[in-house]
Amino acid sequence: MTAEIIDGIAVAAELTARIHGQVEQLAAAVRLKPTLAVVLVGENPSSQVYVSSKARKAKAIGIAAVDHRLPASTAESDLLALIRKLNADPAVHGILVQLPLPDHIATTTVLEAIDPAKDVDGFHPVNVGLLGIGDVERAFVPCTPLGCLLLLRDRFDDLTGMNALIIGRSTIVGRPMAQLLVRESCTVTIAHSKTADLEGRCRQADIVVAAVGRPDFVRGSWIKPGATVIDVGINRVTRADGANVLTGDVAFAEVAAVAGAVTPVPGGVGPMTIACLLANTVTSACRHAGLAPPRWAVPARKPASIQGAAAVA
Ligand code: NAD
Repeated sequence: MTAEIIDGIAVAAELTARIHGQVEQLAAAVRLKPTLAVVLVGENPSSQVYVSSKARKAKAIGIAAVDHRLPASTAESDLLALIRKLNADPAVHGILVQLPLPDHIATTTVLEAIDPAKDVDGFHPVNVGLLGIGDVERAFVPCTPLGCLLLLRDRFDDLTGMNALIIGRSTIVGRPMAQLLVRESCTVTIAHSKTADLEGRCRQADIVVAAVGRPDFVRGSWIKPGATVIDVGINRVTRADGANVLTGDVAFAEVAAVAGAVTPVPGGVGPMTIACLLANTVTSACRHAGLAPPRWAVPARKPASIQGAAAVA
C-alpha cells in the first residue's frame, strides 16, 4: 500500500483563501481590519524567521501585523508593560509573544499577562481551561493542534470512534490535541517518554499524531495498515552528504508504505499552523465586533470512512 500524502500546503491555501474572504467581509460590512501584534524579544534566528513569515502571510490577506521587536536585554517589567498596552488597545485583536523568551523572563508570567480574549496562541490558562471543557466557541485553540485537526477533518467528515494516539504531552501540541480529539469523540491515548509498549499502542491507532521532536522516531512497523499519520515534528538534521534539511518525527518512507495517509515534513502541519494563527486572529476580530466567527472546519472532500474500520464495528 502507498499512503496518500496529505498536502498541508494546499489545505492551508484553501483555509487562507476563506480567511481572506472573511477579512474582506469585515472590511466591507463593519470597516474592521483584523490586527495582530507580534512581539519578539531577542535575536533568535528561528524566531525571527517565524515572526517575519507570520507577518508576511497576515499582510498578504489584509490582516494588519504590527511587529514589536525588543532587545534580548529587555526587562520582564517592560515586556509586561507592552502587553498591558496591547491589551488595552481596541485596535489590536490578537497578541502573539514569540517563544522562547530569554532566560531572565518568566514565560508563564508573560503568557498569563495577555488578555485571554486576545490570546490567539491559546496558551493562557483561561483558554486552556475552555478547551478542557470542550468550549471551543469561546476558547482560542492553539494553532498547531487546530491545524492538525483541520487536516484530519479535511480527510474525514466524522472522527467518531476512532482510536487516536498522540505521542507527546506538551502544552502547545500534545495536550490540546488530545482535548480536540476527545471532543471529536475519538478514543484518545496520550503517550510520552514514560509510556510502556509505545509500539503496541501505536499499532492499535487509526490516527497517530507524532509531536516528539526526534527525527524518524515513529517506524513503519508501528503503524496499523491504513492509519492516518500526522507528523508535527520539525527537526533540523545534517544528511550524510552534509546538507542541512528539515525532517519530521516519522520515518516517512516506511510509514507511507503502510499508512492510509501521512503528512510530509515540510509541507504538512507547518503551513496549517500559520493559517490557524490567521484564523484565530479573524475569530478574535469577529468576537470583538460582536459578530459570530466563522467555523473553520469544512465538510471533508472524501466520504467519511475509517481506515481499518474494524476499530468501530
Ligand atoms: P516538547 O519537547 O515540549 O515535547 C516532546 C514530547 O515528546 C514530550 O511530551 C515527551 O514526553 C515526548 N517524548 C520524548 N521522548 C519520547 C519517547 N521516547 N517516547 C514517547 N514520547 C517521548 O515538544 P513540542 O513543543 O510538543 O514539539 C514536538 C515537535 O513538534 C518538535 O519537533 C517541534 O519542533 C515540533 N513542532 C512543530 C510545530 C509546527 O508548526 N509544525 C509546532 C510546534 C512544535
